[in-house]
Amino acid sequence: MKNYLFTLTALSLLGYSLNTPAADPSVVAKVDRNLWQAPINTPDSFDKASRAAILEYIIALGNRGKLSDTDMKAAFNIKTVNRASVTQWLNKELALSLRNYQNAAKNCTNDDWTCVGTVTSTAHLLTQADNLASKIPPNLSAWHTNLAQFSRAYVAEQLRLAALFPNISSEIDFFNSNEWNGDNFTDRQFLLTFDDGPTQAQGNTDDTLAMLTANQKSAVFFVLGENLHNRINKTNADRVATLYKNQCVANHGWEHQSHAKWANWQDSIQRTQTLITSTLSTGNALPLFRPPYGQRQADSGAFFQQQGLQVALWNLDSQDWNKQVNSDHILNRMLTLMLIKRHGVLLFHDVHPKAKAALPLLFNEVGNAVEWRNCHSL
Ligand SMILES: [Zn+2]
Repeated sequence: MKNYLFTLTALSLLGYSLNTPAADPSVVAKVDRNLWQAPINTPDSFDKASRAAILEYIIALGNRGKLSDTDMKAAFNIKTVNRASVTQWLNKELALSLRNYQNAAKNCTNDDWTCVGTVTSTAHLLTQADNLASKIPPNLSAWHTNLAQFSRAYVAEQLRLAALFPNISSEIDFFNSNEWNGDNFTDRQFLLTFDDGPTQAQGNTDDTLAMLTANQKSAVFFVLGENLHNRINKTNADRVATLYKNQCVANHGWEHQSHAKWANWQDSIQRTQTLITSTLSTGNALPLFRPPYGQRQADSGAFFQQQGLQVALWNLDSQDWNKQVNSDHILNRMLTLMLIKRHGVLLFHDVHPKAKAALPLLFNEVGNAVEWRNCHSL
């Protein structure tokens, strides 16, 4: 815990200085959910924590939106800034935050400091959020400082991706209407996804599947063709089909490399899709492709249409692949992002052991406040 607090302090300093790489991809936004000091396991308690988190988040969006190109280049350690992409992301995120706040405020009462009255525009919500500091109860001042730091660091992570798009493609934006990321899910509805498997038999994939079964949850596993092929060769296709029998499997390409700059990207997708559909029972194989790193070609839409595949991105990144992040960080980060974003697709990796430790605790903390989508309903 001490190390974690040290990281948080360092992170907040980075967040304030424009001359340091605040959004270096090695710097991950971390947060301490316990500072909220209240449960979030019912719709009403979740909504209250969500309203508070959205107000902090929108302040960070407003402040970060004022950064010049020069500021961003220095802060994010990048050479070019696509201003149009940055503006589009900020406007989209502000509009989503307004709608999320309105959804979270449906059961508001007058004596609740997180209820700021009827808000009808992002400008109005920004003004109300700026008035927040004076209303926060004294026992939540540590929460306020912590969540403000997290929001700044998280917005920096996302702005960096927006500044680089579409030169470097990612999950931050779409190229066409055949691509999605969970932003259009119903309020308080979430989907679990796991990338990069399967592992060898008795590895983290098996443990992750067992954890989901024990918690009666389903998920989409975006598998690498190469890993699936190896697993089938070492056991057999029937065993692999049985392994995933109540879950969903989709395509992450044959090898884990960018599908934006790879000459064989189409072959990678077709080979993997053929292997998935010939191995899994029909109901468990989904016609979805998730590009490694979110990287695909800008003009790839026609190919995916022709293959009958949708491009399935994500909007809640756990960063569980990152060595700086342990399962407790993941629990804190994902709970906080769920409060801020209120719906969407959670990204984990079943080749790592962290999600299988974090998720049972996360399911317990959110209780019946959210709906976990059945992967077969996609
Ligand atoms: Zn991946």
